[in-house]
Amino acid sequence: MVILDGSQGEGGGQILRSALALSLITGQAFRIDNIRAGRARPGLLRQHLTAVEAAATIGNARVEGAAIGARSVAFAPSKLQGGAFMFSVGTAGSTTLVLQTVLPALLTAPAPSTIILEGGTHNPSAPPFDFLADVYLPLVARMGPQVKVVLERPGFYPAGGGRLRVEVAPTPSLSPLVLLERGAIKRRHARVLIANLPRAIAAREVEVVASRLGLASQDCVIEQRSDSAGPGNAVLVYVEAEHVTEVMVGFGEKRVRAEAVAEEVATAATEYLESDVPVGPHLADQLVLLLALAQGSCFRTSTPTMHARTQLETISKFMGRVVHAEQEAAGTWRFDGRSVAS
Ligand code: AMP
Repeated sequence: MVILDGSQGEGGGQILRSALALSLITGQAFRIDNIRAGRARPGLLRQHLTAVEAAATIGNARVEGAAIGARSVAFAPSKLQGGAFMFSVGTAGSTTLVLQTVLPALLTAPAPSTIILEGGTHNPSAPPFDFLADVYLPLVARMGPQVKVVLERPGFYPAGGGRLRVEVAPTPSLSPLVLLERGAIKRRHARVLIANLPRAIAAREVEVVASRLGLASQDCVIEQRSDSAGPGNAVLVYVEAEHVTEVMVGFGEKRVRAEAVAEEVATAATEYLESDVPVGPHLADQLVLLLALAQGSCFRTSTPTMHARTQLETISKFMGRVVHAEQEAAGTWRFDGRSVAS
């Protein structure tokens, strides 16, 4: 049994979610203690509990200790199954993070899957739906499996109530993902989502990102949604290059000026553009796990975050040192899958 300390490294939910994903893939049981010890409200929240339940369902696993607030969980998978699933977080907790827990195993499962997920689709500190659809899944598709995702209803924090439909067409094995160069930038554009809030907020945000990033007005779109349970606002900046698309996001919050939200996204986009690497910091930590699954995969990114470093440690507990990270130049790192034997 693999034993993990959830207080190590980044100390958040990612250690648990990655452990679930790796357990389903390798068939190894694990126990994790000190879950989310580094967070203000430690232990399992609804999103993490849903991730455990989702992983238990697709892996026919035996689970001990899974309850709201729990600091320790034991998980022992048996037979992995594709099929039709529905997982509801029950709060605004992130559906995309729940999906990323079960998806790696479903990519090579013996049967296709259809998954309905309910909860938050546009959450701070999680990949927004658009990042999943436009950044992460196109890269997964390059490895073979085709994953279609539809936003049936957006769910913003704190009301939630969003809904995703996901269809996974697996392949027997994954092809390597090679992402060393960004290639020429083809297009930069912005989308501002605004739900149950005045359109003027979005217009102020567009003004800031357009002027900071030099975007023409036809490259800035305001999308007013009336189908979400509560109010919400997300500023999305897209950088589409020859070999990869990246999306930077900021969320409107009470008592934070719209201009400040837009400024922050523009700064993240500028940093990404200046870094000249294909893989931005959030995408990097999410791709690390996929590198471990296809020999010969590699990517170039900026200085790894604590999330990315923690991913390396969690993977090594299940698979040995199959992913290797090395600094190439100031601020540029290369990650290689299976380049170093354990
Ligand atoms: P944790 O903090 O452990 O719950 O993990 C959060 C996950 O969400 C990490 O994989 C982050 O890379 C990802 N994430 C957070 N913010 C963003 C963002 N703006 N875009 C894409 N992914 C994000």
